[in-house]
Amino acid sequence: MSDSTQSAVMNTYARSPIAMERGEGVYLWDTTGRRYLDFYAGIAVNSLGHAHPHLVKVLQDQAAKLWHTSNLYTIPEGERLAKRLTESSFADRVFFTNSGVEALEGLIKLARRYHSVSGHPERYRVITVDGAFHGRSLATIAAANNKKYLDGFGPKVDGFDNVPFGNMNMLRDSITPETGAILLEPVQGEGGIRPATLDYLKQLRQTADEYGLLLILDEVQSGNGRTGKMWAHEWADIKPDAIATAKGIGGGFPMGAILSTEAAAQGLTPGTHGTTFGGNPLAMAVGNAVMDVIQAPGFLEGVEKTGQYFWSRLEDLVARHPTVFAAARGAGLMQGLVCQPDVSNLKVIDALRDAGLLTVGAGENVIRLLPPLIVTEAQIDEAIALIDTVAGAWSNDDAA
Ligand code: PLP
Repeated sequence: MSDSTQSAVMNTYARSPIAMERGEGVYLWDTTGRRYLDFYAGIAVNSLGHAHPHLVKVLQDQAAKLWHTSNLYTIPEGERLAKRLTESSFADRVFFTNSGVEALEGLIKLARRYHSVSGHPERYRVITVDGAFHGRSLATIAAANNKKYLDGFGPKVDGFDNVPFGNMNMLRDSITPETGAILLEPVQGEGGIRPATLDYLKQLRQTADEYGLLLILDEVQSGNGRTGKMWAHEWADIKPDAIATAKGIGGGFPMGAILSTEAAAQGLTPGTHGTTFGGNPLAMAVGNAVMDVIQAPGFLEGVEKTGQYFWSRLEDLVARHPTVFAAARGAGLMQGLVCQPDVSNLKVIDALRDAGLLTVGAGENVIRLLPPLIVTEAQIDEAIALIDTVAGAWSNDDAA
């Protein structure tokens, strides 16, 4: 029996008591009627903002037709979406999931299985980098090797070798006859909006080729147009063997995907991997609706341009408030403000929320800024003005 004064929801999040009631575009309204400018988009999920009319219509139409059939039958909207995703990427094949972590689990399984069917089952190990975040399953917390998320969950799943982010020598030194793949986010999100340099990504591709490893990327947060290209790795002009994606791909409807070359997916044959809900008709319809918008001519170029504007405005902010902010970094509309060591990012985030701007924290004392991709320069100006006011009034004593 629950205590009526306490939430019955498990205590895994330090939730704000604020509850959102509705959203429109880049704005959210809470249950008291207060309006917020949403620059976190449900952690990079609401890629087209809230209540996008095209997404709402497609979801409503699909809801009236068919929700679920399981993957035992062909799902035409899924076939169509998979084709569009392969046409928008390096990939030949797609596996749909319901979330990012499922896409990551599948991605790791794909890499192991690839080597197994190629006659090298011993090549099951995956090299990962520090500061990574790949989700909360037992395998993905082992992959990311973040003590905070491993603590108390028993023996770490074997098969991951974690090396410092950006250090090519240490990565190469860690390759053994058991290594099968290299896994990383092209732009680390949770780790603190840390973009991999384009040179690092290119060298990872070369090293993977040299040792016969698969280069598998986590584009759960950085994909689907967030950085101004459909996939963040495109900035480095490289082709991975497979990627995992989620978040923005469904514009707020829970879904994810693994995209793979034909060769890398060769081990995933009937019966080797599966999902009950992944690729369901509702998700597939919405996924196609998201693609209609982000693949429309000029949309991604617009994101790139808005992203550049945003970054230049953030650079100005850092210059104006050097005691609060140390740097701005990111790509496209995946930006971070690094707070000075004596300034708590979480306290600034609370102050920003009180001022009407929603953002989200990340590692390395960073404030993550992930507005919907439809954000305008005027709305960016509105956000910058709010940050400017909060930073101008900032005093560590007040916030203590
Ligand atoms: N990978 C990255 C880069 C992420 O940012 C996240 C979620 O924040 C995940 C994986 C896990 O996704 P999900 O929470 O949908 O399982």
